[in-house]
Amino acid sequence: MTPIKAALIDLSGTLHVEDQPTAGAVDALQRLRAAGVAVKFVTNTTKESVGSLYDRLVAIGFQLERKEIYGSLTAAADYVKSNALNPYYILTDDARKDFPEGDSSRGHDSVVVGLAPERFSYEYINEAFRILQQSKGSARLVAIHEGKFYKTKQGISVGPGCFVKGLEYSSGVKSVCIGKPNEYFFRSALPSGVDPSECCMIGDDPSDDCLGAMAVGMRGFLVETGKYQPELYDKDSLPKVSGIFRNFAAVVEHIIERVNV
Ligand SMILES: [Mg+2]
Repeated sequence: MTPIKAALIDLSGTLHVEDQPTAGAVDALQRLRAAGVAVKFVTNTTKESVGSLYDRLVAIGFQLERKEIYGSLTAAADYVKSNALNPYYILTDDARKDFPEGDSSRGHDSVVVGLAPERFSYEYINEAFRILQQSKGSARLVAIHEGKFYKTKQGISVGPGCFVKGLEYSSGVKSVCIGKPNEYFFRSALPSGVDPSECCMIGDDPSDDCLGAMAVGMRGFLVETGKYQPELYDKDSLPKVSGIFRNFAAVVEHIIERVNV
């Protein structure tokens, strides 16, 4: 097996669930770094700005640098800037901080949707729909990601994907999806000088994390601490990932003991 030089690590459901690190994750991250594996944290989390994510991870015990976090929010903000868009945002106030200021001298020419539970109401969705509908096809619908659901302390909860799909359905405007599992998201997250075959993605989403990364030639390791629901699969229909592990710490042991020997 090709040794692993770099690991892309998902946050929510993999390193932590809300304010709780997954079992052994804090130490495992240190062991992975000590083994010489470069790490980058790749997240579709759109509820929190990169600064807030960083603060939260440090507060629950992880050692990392802010610049090691590569999120779909950052990638989406780059997309808005490079296309000089003036979007209507369906985002939390915190996530909105990562985007450029609005231009009140012109109308909205696009809609940006992230995970924003308090904004997923008829009022906001309808305003977004009107912008898309009235532009006669010129407005863009930018999905920070199309997650179906995610795990919270209260249980499994609906993600932004169904609101993006609903807006597509009603307006006829096809969305541009920025975050995982897009190929260019994984490619741009890859540290320079590392070949995809020397990199793994560790995450709790079989398709968006693992299969997305595997499509560009990385290994995809799935953990059982987040949204992955083993009871939905039988032994013949298990996701075709590179490995399924109890938690993040178990993946790290696998990399150190079996792959990078
Ligand atoms: Mg996750």
